[in-house]
Amino acid sequence: MSDSKQNYIDGEWRDASTGETIETTNPAAPSESVARYQQSNAEDAEEAVAAAASARDDWAATPGPKRGAILREAASILKDRKEELTELLTREEGKTHAEAGGEVQRAVDIFYYFAEKTRDLGGTVKAASGSQTNLYTVNQPVGVAALITPWNYPIAIPAWKIAPALAAGNTLVLKPATVAAGTAVAIFEALDEAGLPDGVANIVTGPGSTVGETLVSHDDVDAVSFTGSSEVGEMVYSKATDDGKRVQTELGGKNPTVVSDSVDVDEAAEIVANGAFGVTGQACTACSRAIVHADVRDEFVDRVVEHADAIEIGPGDEYDMGPQVTESELEGTLEYIDIAADEGATLETGGGRPEGERFEEGYYVEPTVFTDVEPDYRIAQEEVFGPVLAVIEVEDFETGLRVANDVDYGLAASIITENHTEAERFVDEIEAGVAKVNDGTTGLELHVPFGGFKRSSSETWREQGDAGLDFYTIEKTVYDSF
Ligand code: NAP
Repeated sequence: MSDSKQNYIDGEWRDASTGETIETTNPAAPSESVARYQQSNAEDAEEAVAAAASARDDWAATPGPKRGAILREAASILKDRKEELTELLTREEGKTHAEAGGEVQRAVDIFYYFAEKTRDLGGTVKAASGSQTNLYTVNQPVGVAALITPWNYPIAIPAWKIAPALAAGNTLVLKPATVAAGTAVAIFEALDEAGLPDGVANIVTGPGSTVGETLVSHDDVDAVSFTGSSEVGEMVYSKATDDGKRVQTELGGKNPTVVSDSVDVDEAAEIVANGAFGVTGQACTACSRAIVHADVRDEFVDRVVEHADAIEIGPGDEYDMGPQVTESELEGTLEYIDIAADEGATLETGGGRPEGERFEEGYYVEPTVFTDVEPDYRIAQEEVFGPVLAVIEVEDFETGLRVANDVDYGLAASIITENHTEAERFVDEIEAGVAKVNDGTTGLELHVPFGGFKRSSSETWREQGDAGLDFYTIEKTVYDSF
């Protein structure tokens, strides 16, 4: 059954000015329609920015704890809808039920977390040289924020932008990814029900090339927070910074796990397989390179292939790994599999679409492991964004570290080792925003800074935790000798 969702602008649910809608379908059964969203254009984006601009002064003047009360209420509404939203996320994006449930819970937790943060929004008091002077800082909102988000965490990523933006007193317009907008729309339903004043938060669905570009280049937008591919993010960054906006971009990854000679190979293989094949490899922090010491390479490959082969593929709650989100994402992964084979890598397992009645329609691909991968192969350098692991053999830790760093990306990285010196050097020298020891590349708690180096991020700003609030805050220094 199809269900048409509207834009939320100035506290009202509105159709797009085009009069058109876009349909989303179930990646596990693409003939099944999930929902319809507004096919908005520049006019709708401009209306949303106008609403956010007119609401900004009142929202900025609303005491932090009052803003927090609305966020807390929205969190509680989302929590009450957890089952329904989990189901919607699975049907629209393809995550397993367990993965989707975890993501919805993360969004709820993010709203609760930033609701509490509103109690601590003050500045700092400093000693003044003048005896009649009070010297202190105050934190003020940046203004109107444009938020642009990808499909792969369609409720958690909007939540980790919307909640700190509102907590810090900003107004906003969200443009979610078109292919899985349903759970992002649900956030605005929750904010509306929680009593958020009109115009403070607005959502406009539609293509990035029109709605997204209008937001990024709009004169009344003060800050842009973008998560998505490096190609689009770099364009957004240069356009928005040229206009003098504050800009945060969180982009692609090519995340390595270095496996040392001194390890429990079973454990290492399990950690790597979880990082490579969890959420169908469609995580920006997914492990796509295992850089393995030659002494343990053969045993490691056997174990990691066993893990890959044990994964049950299928829809919903009975299986371990769902489909890719769209046909074009599936085709992109299959193309990289062909490229790897052409470059000379050895296919150990997977390498195509699974066979059987259950897979006839959906965008499924097998968990895939390549060995004999050279560090300069495209499969070792470019983001694949599917469940494909490249195993690169190295002779020693030095080479492993160099290979790990020798890519354009630097989001998350991990090492598995029993050697303390290696662990310390890895943490010091790895060029990545997240470094983990004896752990996988994926998974980060919501209160720690998240961002990358090199093409993975704009580097200036981090998301999540206090760093997430900093992006949406301007500090003012006050000398008060009244
Ligand atoms: P994408 O194609 O770059 O799209 C991201 C968002 O940008 C979508 O909402 C898209 O809209 C919009 N967009 C497209 N063209 C635009 C333009 N010219 N101006 C403004 N906005 C535009 O990325 P994706 O395929 O959705 O997501 C996968 C990518 O995100 C991967 O590279 C992954 O690594 C990255 N990612 C990074 C992080 C992180 O925190 N570092 C987290 C998650 C994902 P439409 O698609 O609706 O047109």
